[in-house]
Amino acid sequence: MWHNNILETIGHTPLVKLNKVVKDIPATVLAKIETTNPGNSIKDRMALKMIEDAEKSGKLKPGGTIIEGTSGNTGMGLAIAAVIKGYKCIFTSTDKQSKEKFDALRAFGAEVIVCPTNVEPEDPRSYYSVSSRLEAEVPNSWKPNQYDNLSNSQAHYEQTGPEIWEQTEGKITHLVVGVGTGGTISGTAKYLKEKNPNIQVLGIDTYGSVFKKYKETGEFDKNEIYPYITEGIGEDFLPQNVNFDLIDHFEKVTDKDAALMTREIARKEGIFAGNSTGSAVAGTLQLKDKFKEGDVVVIIFPDHGTRYLGKMYNDDWLRDRGFLKEEKLTARHIISKK
Ligand code: PMP
Repeated sequence: MWHNNILETIGHTPLVKLNKVVKDIPATVLAKIETTNPGNSIKDRMALKMIEDAEKSGKLKPGGTIIEGTSGNTGMGLAIAAVIKGYKCIFTSTDKQSKEKFDALRAFGAEVIVCPTNVEPEDPRSYYSVSSRLEAEVPNSWKPNQYDNLSNSQAHYEQTGPEIWEQTEGKITHLVVGVGTGGTISGTAKYLKEKNPNIQVLGIDTYGSVFKKYKETGEFDKNEIYPYITEGIGEDFLPQNVNFDLIDHFEKVTDKDAALMTREIARKEGIFAGNSTGSAVAGTLQLKDKFKEGDVVVIIFPDHGTRYLGKMYNDDWLRDRGFLKEEKLTARHIISKK
């Protein structure tokens, strides 16, 4: 038995029980581990779906160039699909993202343009503006626009939702998802709520992002927007893929809690995951009073830890930001004292 190409290995990711990091939660807490996708993230699912839908609608033509503003994971999914399907890729991203992510995209032959983080989306230097300009100027190009392209959430309606329903044999009571474009949470929630409208959907947001306040007040409050460290989730605008009606509650998690929990997951569960996974698990713990015995909570683990080796998995990086809890006596300290 074999697959015809790497794209056929996307999806059907494992669901794994968490045992130690969530010991204060009375429910069964399960991790949907998306790192087994070929690009090591959940974004492979929607990247392929956006490309296939654009091929069908004629927006993406043979030999075309895919241009997108991406923080890395969507780019990886697009770049892998482009290799198999014969497209070129140009990505714009921000200087906040891990260098490892850019190198990984370049490994698949993509061109990456790094733009400044702390400028307004309308600023001509922003990664949104640069990708729009390139789209207008590069011939035979197509911009997927993962934020407003509803093929994104549709991928999760067709795949992630049904997988979770089947893997939990319909027993899921809560879904916890970090929200960036909103594709994962909206598509997965739509499928699961159609199966059982009582399932609670909890979105994880960052401090510095607009989602929670907008959900709770209906107000787009610019004061909520400020720079933050957590990667992959939170936004300073409202993407069309975020369906607020399907999300019951948003929980904000600090950069520090997200970073420390990311490390704890590796050390206590043996799961090497990315920064937004730390946010999602820390947020689930903040919400522990919502869960009771017999509940089945599914947390999406969107990407892999390798992309963060120079960040939260690095003691110096944590220390520089004041995130290191306590300095433990290590073998290195003992040797250096002698
Ligand atoms: N975590 C990571 C690491 C991501 O790259 C993304 C995508 N921006 C998300 C979470 C959020 O997923 P979505 O865009 O589907 O809301």
